[in-house]
Amino acid sequence: MKAIRLDKWLANAGMGTRTEVKKAIRATRIEVNGVIAKDAGQHVVPGKDVVTWDGEPVIYAAFAYFMMYKPQGVLSATEDLRDPVVTDLLDEADAHFDVFPVGRLDKDAEGLLLLTNDGQLAHRLLSPRHHVPKRYLIHVQGELGEDDVQAIANGVTLEDGYQALPGELMIVERGQTSAAEIVIYEGKYHQVKRMLMALGKPVTFLKRLEMGPLVLDSDLSPGEYRKLTEMEVARLQ
Ligand code: URA
Repeated sequence: MKAIRLDKWLANAGMGTRTEVKKAIRATRIEVNGVIAKDAGQHVVPGKDVVTWDGEPVIYAAFAYFMMYKPQGVLSATEDLRDPVVTDLLDEADAHFDVFPVGRLDKDAEGLLLLTNDGQLAHRLLSPRHHVPKRYLIHVQGELGEDDVQAIANGVTLEDGYQALPGELMIVERGQTSAAEIVIYEGKYHQVKRMLMALGKPVTFLKRLEMGPLVLDSDLSPGEYRKLTEMEVARLQ
C-alpha cells in the first residue's frame, strides 16, 4: 500500500480531525514503530508500520463507508458550482476521507445513499451485470392498479424505446394519487420516474429505502448520516 502522511493516517483511522491528531503528535503521544513521531508530515505505510497512541496500537481503516439519508434539494455529487452536494453534509472529521456517492438519487429525490472511497465496491454495486436491487417508496398522480403491477413485472418500454428489466410494484395506497413500493434491478437515468411516466402516472415523490443488502436506518432524518456497521460492510462484500 502507498505511504501516506501520519496525520492523514491517524484521521483516516478515526482518531480525530487532522487538527486534533496533529495536537497529539506535538504532545508526543504517537509512536511509529516504537519511535516517538515528531512530524505530522512523516509518511507511514498502512498495513506495515505500527502506529500507537498513548502506547495503544491504532488499527487503520483503509476505507470509509457512510449511510446517508439524502435530503431533497441536494445533489448526489462531490462538487457543484450552484447547488449543495451530499459531501457538504459530512462532519469535518469525516470530510477528508474523500468519499463519493455510490450511484445517484435525483435532486428532488430523498433517501438511502451510500458514500464510500472504496472504488471496487462502488463499481460492483453499480455494475449493470450485477442487477443489485433497489427499493423505492413512490407517490404518483393517478390510480395504480393490477395492470400497472403486471406492466412493471413484464418490463415497461420507456419513451426512448429502452425495454426496462422486469421489476416489482407493490401498491400501498390507491386513489387519485397513489403510493407504492417499487423494486428495480438496474439504474438508468431517472429510471423509476420514466417507468411510471410510461404508465401515465407521473412520480411526485421518490424515496430510496434499500440498495442491495443496505436498508435506510429509520433513526436517520433527512441530511443525517452514520458509519456502516461492520456487519453492513461485510454484507456488501
Ligand atoms: N429513479 C429515478 O427516477 N430517480 C432516482 O433518483 C432514482 C431512481
